[in-house]
Amino acid sequence: MTKREFSLEILQDHAFKRGGELVSKEYINSTLYLLWRCKLGHKWKASALDVIGKKNNQHQGSWCPKCVRASSTLLSLDDL
Ligand SMILES: [Zn+2]
Repeated sequence: MTKREFSLEILQDHAFKRGGELVSKEYINSTLYLLWRCKLGHKWKASALDVIGKKNNQHQGSWCPKCVRASSTLLSLDDL
């Protein structure tokens, strides 16, 4: 198991690339919850590991849970 380290800068950059931002101004460790905001203004809490993902198993990381739910609703409507 390789331990992956993050920094506040890495996380802010990651959030920016996804069109959102990291609301939390302090990074303590990769499993502690941070506050994030997506481009639609949703706020949610997730750890750095949740959002960035794990390098080892190609986990892509997660982003706004509300947007994920919205897009899966669209998909299910598409199926009808
Ligand atoms: Zn969202």
